[in-house]
Amino acid sequence: MDISIVVPLYNEAESLPELEVWIRRVMEQNGFSYEILFINDGSTDNSWDIVKELSRNNPNVKGVSFRRNYGKSPALNTGFSRAKGDVVITMDADLQDSPDEIPELYRMITEDKYDLVSGWKRKRYDPLSKTIPTKLFNATARKVSGIKNLHDFNCGLKAYRNIVVKHIEVYGDMHRYIPYLAKNAGFKKIGEKVVQHQARKYGTTKFGLDRFVNGYLDLATLWFMSKFGIKPMHFFGLLGSLMFILGFIAVAVVGFTKLYDMYHGNPYILVTDSPYFYLSLVLMLLGAQLFLTGFIGELIVRNSERRNEYEINEEITTQKI
Ligand code: UDP
Ligand code: MG
Repeated sequence: MDISIVVPLYNEAESLPELEVWIRRVMEQNGFSYEILFINDGSTDNSWDIVKELSRNNPNVKGVSFRRNYGKSPALNTGFSRAKGDVVITMDADLQDSPDEIPELYRMITEDKYDLVSGWKRKRYDPLSKTIPTKLFNATARKVSGIKNLHDFNCGLKAYRNIVVKHIEVYGDMHRYIPYLAKNAGFKKIGEKVVQHQARKYGTTKFGLDRFVNGYLDLATLWFMSKFGIKPMHFFGLLGSLMFILGFIAVAVVGFTKLYDMYHGNPYILVTDSPYFYLSLVLMLLGAQLFLTGFIGELIVRNSERRNEYEINEEITTQKI
């Protein structure tokens, strides 16, 4: 099969029939063999009935329905695990992404050999309250992830080599950082294609402004996991040691100053009257705690089955003749 199209949807009943017709037209015009995987993320409208209806008329339409709403990432993850096409395309269900982009995305994966191609909504039809924070968000994501050529991490329209989606785990709200997840899994050839974007025709957006707060927190998590996920002590131990040493120096200076002044008969203050004494107390306590957090982190990692799980690309084994 050439293409799997994964469509997460939450209360998008009005859009689905148009979307299916449009995708089908593009697929048939280009002679692709394909499947559309509609992942119903616990819709409370009649979206799922419509998916069932669509699948009766088009055998390429498949679907999964969650009993409750989990979020876009779990929906994508479920679609990814089922996708059989050589190229996997994700797109939103709200008709904001255009199926006409699919043939070129497919070509970029199969001929230009990209692992992942992300859409770039260069001209967006979203309210300003969304486009401005998005710019900031993408700039941070570029910096932290080191993927410098992407302008639009969170574009719903993306294309992947099949193997890529089988080797990344999208959970929580991590769909915003799929390129970063792919890079951490060793898929480095990540490209971008400018795509058409449309204003939402039906229904409303499913994400509020908290998307930006959560987005930044998730980015911090991913950064930490990719750098220290299997060696937490390198993070906590370093930070803890630095704090402890600073605290130790502070208390030593306070103590020695007092002894020096006493010895030379100068006026001196009590150790507990010096602000540095309290500073050092806090620093040493925090330092020790961070250090212990490092140990606990190591214990947790030790129990993880994935500690020695690596992305193996190729292997040569010699056989005895
Ligand atoms: N979506 C989903 N589960 C959710 C929220 C959203 O499956 O909990 C789907 C939604 O139906 C749409 C896509 O994710 O197909 C993108 O959502 P939306 O269009 O609301 O986001 P925006 O375009 O405003 O970023
Ligand atoms: Mg949308």
